[in-house]
Parts: sequence; C-alpha cells; structure tokens
Amino acid sequence: MLTIIGNERVDSNEKIAVRNPANGEIIDYVPSLSRDEVRKAIDIAFDSFSKLNSITPAKRSKALMETASIIRENANDLAVTMTKETGRPIKSSRAEIERTAQIFELASSELRRALEGEFVPLDLYDFPAGNEKRIAFIKREPIGVVGAITPFNFPAASFAHKVAPALAVGNTVVFKPSSLTPLTQIKLAEIVSKKFPVGSVNVITGSSEMIGEEFISNDKVSLITFTGSVNVGLDLASKAVKNGKRVIMELGGSDAMIVLEDADIDKAVKAALVGRFDFAGQFCNATKRVIVRQEIEKDFSDKLRSELQKYKAGDPMDESVDIPPLISEQAVMRMREFLNDAIKEGGEKIFEGKVPEKGYYFPPVVVKLQPTSRSRILREEVFGPILPIVPVKSDDEAINIANSTQYGLDASIFSSNFSRAYEIASKLRAGTIIINDTTRLRWDNLPFGGMLKSGIGRESVINTMMEMTETKLMVYSR
Ligand code: NAD
Repeated sequence: MLTIIGNERVDSNEKIAVRNPANGEIIDYVPSLSRDEVRKAIDIAFDSFSKLNSITPAKRSKALMETASIIRENANDLAVTMTKETGRPIKSSRAEIERTAQIFELASSELRRALEGEFVPLDLYDFPAGNEKRIAFIKREPIGVVGAITPFNFPAASFAHKVAPALAVGNTVVFKPSSLTPLTQIKLAEIVSKKFPVGSVNVITGSSEMIGEEFISNDKVSLITFTGSVNVGLDLASKAVKNGKRVIMELGGSDAMIVLEDADIDKAVKAALVGRFDFAGQFCNATKRVIVRQEIEKDFSDKLRSELQKYKAGDPMDESVDIPPLISEQAVMRMREFLNDAIKEGGEKIFEGKVPEKGYYFPPVVVKLQPTSRSRILREEVFGPILPIVPVKSDDEAINIANSTQYGLDASIFSSNFSRAYEIASKLRAGTIIINDTTRLRWDNLPFGGMLKSGIGRESVINTMMEMTETKLMVYSR
C-alpha cells in the first residue's frame, strides 16, 4: 500500500513488509521513506497550516462530523484490515472502528470548549497599578505541525486520539505509524484527506529512529505526541524538550488489580479475564498483576481457571475467538523469557491454555507468586497473556505491591466497602483507578494518562486539545 503525503500516494524503492501475526505471511508492503522524503512531508504539513486555519473552527467541526460518517461507511474494510495486520480479534476491531468514529465526533463538539476564550476586566485587581484602564483577553491558538507516533496495538483509536484533536484546533499532522501496523492508519488518513485541506494529515512510513530524530531536530515540528513504550518515549521526550518542543507521552503500564476478601468474586474474576486476556494482553491498560487477599485467593484462582478453560485461541478473523496471536515472533520470545524467570523466582504455574502451532501464539498462563518474589513479571510491563496472582495478608501489603513498579497508568480495586476501596485508591499511584470494574475501561471524554514513568500529559479529546494549543494573553490599556 502506498502512503499518503499532501493528498498524493507516495512510493519508494525501499519497502517494509507487513505481516499477518496469525500465520506470519506478508500481507502488504509500505514504502520506507528516505530522510529527505520525511522532511518534504514536514514541509507540506507546515505549508498547509495556513490553509487549515483559513477554514473557520465551525467548518472544521462539521468536517470532523463528516469524517466520522465516512469512517462508519468503511467500517468493515477498516476492521478487517486492522485484524489482518494486528491480529486483534475481529469483534474487537469492529468495536474500535466505531470508537474511532466517536472520537472524531467528540472532537467536533469539544473544539468549542477548547477554543472559547476568556475576557477579564483587570479593574478587579489592584496590582499592577493602573488596572482601572485595562482589560485582558485570553485565547488559545494552534501550535503548528504535530509529529505523531503510535504503537501497534490500537491503530485506529490512536490515530483518532492524535489527529482529530489536532485538526479540530487547527494543527496539521505528520503521522508515523508502527511499522508493524501501518495499513489501517493510511486508510484513515485517506478518509480524513477527503474533508480537510491538502497536506493537513500526512503519513510517513520508514525507519523509526530516523523519523524520531527528524521530529526532534526539525524546527517546523512544534509538538511530538507519542504513544508507546517507556524507554523509547522518555528518550524521545528528553531530546525533544531540549530542542524546545512540547511533548505528550502516553507510555506503558503494569496495572494492578486488588481484590479484597469482601469483593464480589465472580465480578472480579470476569474483570481479570477481560483485563489480562483480551487481545492476548496487548493493551497499555491491561490488568498485568492481580493482588488478592489470601482468605479468598483459592476461591478466586479456582473460578478464574475454570472460566479461562472456556477461552478459545485461534484465527482472529473467527468471530468466536478469544485468544489471538501476539504481534511478532519477538513478542512470543519475550513471553517465554518472562515465564521462565517467574518459575525460576518461585512461581507456581496454575494454568496453561492451548494455542495453534502456526502463527505468533503464546498460551494464556496464570502464575501464583509470593509477595517477596523478585520475578520480572511483578516489576516490568508484560505485554502478553501471562497473569501473576499474588496472595497478600493485609490492605497495606496490597498497596505496597501495587505501588512497587516504575509505572502508574491504571489500577482497579474490588470491594463491597466503598470507603475502604476509596482509602486504598487514594494511596495508589495511578492516573486512573477503577473500583469494581476492569482496568481496561477508558472514556475518551475523560483524562487518560499515567503517573511516574507511564506518561507526560493526559489524552482525553479535550485534554489533548489543551496540550496542542498555546495560551495567548492579550491586554488592552485605554
Ligand atoms: P514501541 O515503543 O516499540 O513503539 C511505539 C512507536 O514508536 C512505534 O511507531 C515505533 O515504530 C516507534 N519507535 C520505536 N523506536 C523509535 C525511536 N527510536 N524513535 C521514534 N519512534 C520510535 O511500542 P509498541 O510495542 O508498538 O507498543 C506497545 C507499548 O505501547 C507498550 O509499552 C504499551 O503500554 C504502550 N502503549 C501505551 C498506551 C497509552 O495510552 N499509555 C497505549 C497503547 C500502548
């Protein structure tokens, strides 16, 4: 598939192969652009800024609504493309395409809230002297060219989270997909291009390092919005900030789920299953550690095993499949290393499912670990279907273990006592804490993002608009 820059389809001699993780076969190629071609795309986005801003925000709002309609008209093709390149179960891809349309609609309405200014009569304040004759206006202006980088795991919604707010407030975008999953995003950019001026959104495919370096060093890029792993994101952020750029970083997580002895165990089991095994655990806000009061640990683990037994692994195009493949062979190898380490560190494997031999599959696994274990799966981000269960004796012990990683994305607590859950929630270091439901929930109108190394900034549609605009103060003195 050719990429799209300045509304034109662009090819190159060098290519990147895109594979279907369900069988390892090549499904398409995208161009591997040279640094000059990347610069040209940034020039096009820069030149398109004035064109985009010659359209009123009211008209941009309408164009966002129309974009959402075209996404829905193409929903089947987009969902199938996404499943083929990510391995995500088709039912889940369909839901994400609908969510993508909804994010564009949300941006269409939220842009009014983001761009409404403020008027302040300064005679409200004595200082500085002379305020009787002054008035102030505060307005928000677009920041310029946004360089966007996304991970492999949710190409449609991550595209919408970056592109829709950017266009809404008047920013143009140079967009770098994951080289593993560029196809859905090129198709989405083509749809957006039908409704926005030439060059408003440009997709660049090629070497990640080279594109990252160009975003950091190119003066025409004002802001870098990155979703991906902690190490890549923080390295990029530190260099970008050094060059005076704004950054939004949505990074990894190791979300803990705490189950107290007064919890509804069936509900907690269901949440753990969805949280850890949806899309084989490849979500930033997947439930990556379960910490359970020892009084109910056996009951919880037995129920979890018996439900997990019913999970079906297989071809993600099959509507009834629960456990799809991982994104790559390397991802499967990483899971093997994590599991071996957990067993070496005293872990007891209490469940292992079955998966097809062909394709990048790894079985769902549940490992029981003692709170003192030094296992990597309790400290690092595990992007795959391994669920550690840690029995604890007290609420304080649960909190300590939950807070024992460098991450702080989401957490969940299961208890029938709201005050007790609230008390624990206020001691957890996480950007989102959900009581009696799965960590996998996310609302695109509410702030989402991480504490500690899980991120910089928040990414709801309105939060992103705020991060992607400059605040300008104008004062008039009579
Ligand atoms: P990744 O960090 O390997 O890659 C993310 C993106 O960065 C890709 O487009 C990749 O090509 C690019 N990249 C890699 N090296 C780069 C470099 N040196 N310079 C510039 N770009 C570079 O992550 P991944 O494996 O694609 O995705 C999984 C990670 O993303 C997990 O850590 C997950 O938690 C995180 N994630 C976070 C959120 C969130 O909202 N917080 C959402 C989804 C995924």
